[in-house]
Amino acid sequence: MSYTHANGEVEDLEYDRIIVCTGFRFDDSIFDDSCKPNLTINNRFPSQTSSWESTNIQDLFFAGILMHMRDFKKKQSGFIHGFRYNIKALHQIFECRFHQKTWQHSSLVLNPETLTDAILSRANQSSALWQQTGFLSDVIIISEQEKQGKYFEEVPTDYLLDSELGKHSHYYTISLEFGHKYLEAFPDPFAIERVHKDDIENAEQSPSLHPIIRRYCRGKLVAEHHVIEDIASEWTEEVHVQPLLKFMTEQLAQPQSIGSRLLQAGLLTSEQLETALAEQELAVSARLEEILKNRGWVKERTIQFMLDKVINKPVDDPRYLKGYSVLGAYLVDADLVTQGQVDQALQEQKMSGQRVGEILADHGWVPQETIEYIMEYVVMPERNSKSKVAVLN
Ligand SMILES: Cc1cc2nc3c(=O)[nH]c(=O)nc-3n(C[C@H](O)[C@H](O)[C@H](O)COP(=O)(O)OP(=O)(O)OC[C@H]3O[C@@H](n4cnc5c(N)ncnc54)[C@H](O)[C@@H]3O)c2cc1C
Repeated sequence: MSYTHANGEVEDLEYDRIIVCTGFRFDDSIFDDSCKPNLTINNRFPSQTSSWESTNIQDLFFAGILMHMRDFKKKQSGFIHGFRYNIKALHQIFECRFHQKTWQHSSLVLNPETLTDAILSRANQSSALWQQTGFLSDVIIISEQEKQGKYFEEVPTDYLLDSELGKHSHYYTISLEFGHKYLEAFPDPFAIERVHKDDIENAEQSPSLHPIIRRYCRGKLVAEHHVIEDIASEWTEEVHVQPLLKFMTEQLAQPQSIGSRLLQAGLLTSEQLETALAEQELAVSARLEEILKNRGWVKERTIQFMLDKVINKPVDDPRYLKGYSVLGAYLVDADLVTQGQVDQALQEQKMSGQRVGEILADHGWVPQETIEYIMEYVVMPERNSKSKVAVLN
């Protein structure tokens, strides 16, 4: 036997017997034809949903090594040290599904210090996040008023997207993950080029296990932060805490719920928002934007504009750079003014030299604070991004 990357070292190994372990297949003979689960991956596993339920037999669930169908050859569900955490999660899934309970959670006051503390304390202590890397995540669901967070531990990441939890308009996930892209660039695990432990600018290039915090709005990833890897996997130093604190401070400064955004933009009053939220409380599954639309407080196109241009801007999506950077065109797009009103404002601008936004606001066609909001959150960021791209090109 010769070793790669060992200066041509060769060893002779002697064996009495060689036992060939070529894997197993699921024995479905105990199931009657009326409830035989579909099999998958060369008939090795029953085919399962993200809550480990058979894909064809309702209420038939699998626990133990069979759960490995969901993370085959990727994570640790093929071992007791992995699937034991899945079984804990399955218990919570059953509590929600069959006993009308909510997934166990704790409440958090939303400030950067509390969130940073909660996230790092879990990253430093949770064996589930450590063993089931990226397969299980902690989740922080943000309330519609953006005042409170609910902290859920060890939720299967796929299940989150499929379940009621993932229908919340705004949440963060916390997981421990390897930088596979960087690991795979080096075939020899003993010769990986690592980022320096203080190189926080390049923390996302950490090949080893490290905490990743992702922020989702309406199912779309809008921000991501990597806490730099640590040789002892103890994320307690300034290089771990301060960048995360900064990230959380920046994120919390940008409320993402449609209600808060419309309020900030002067398109909704706080009384209207409170009434709509109270109505939403009663109808659990109703989306806030539906309620606002049905009450005639905000037009459908205005809501869609806020969602597309302000809330759901995906991280580093080049499509975000497309589109017009002219205020008037945006206001028409958002159904806040008519094209005729913009044309008139442009005519008046030739005479007075005033800004188009000022003219539209002076006529009372659109509130001044809405103009300022769209300039700050849509027009200016787009212009800045375009000029950056132009410089890069
Ligand atoms: C050599 C080896 C070393 C391992 N080392 C580790 C380790 O270090 N750490 C770790 O975490 N994991 C390890 N594993 C994996 C771990 O042992 C398995 O993942 C775990 O035992 C699976 O548990 P289970 O209850 O899901 O399935 P099993 O332990 O396979 O239990 C299934 C049971 O169902 C019974 N059964 C099957 N069909 C029927 C039927 N028709 N009627 C009635 N009974 C039936 C079987 O006889 C069996 O008793 C190892 C596995 C092997 C093979």
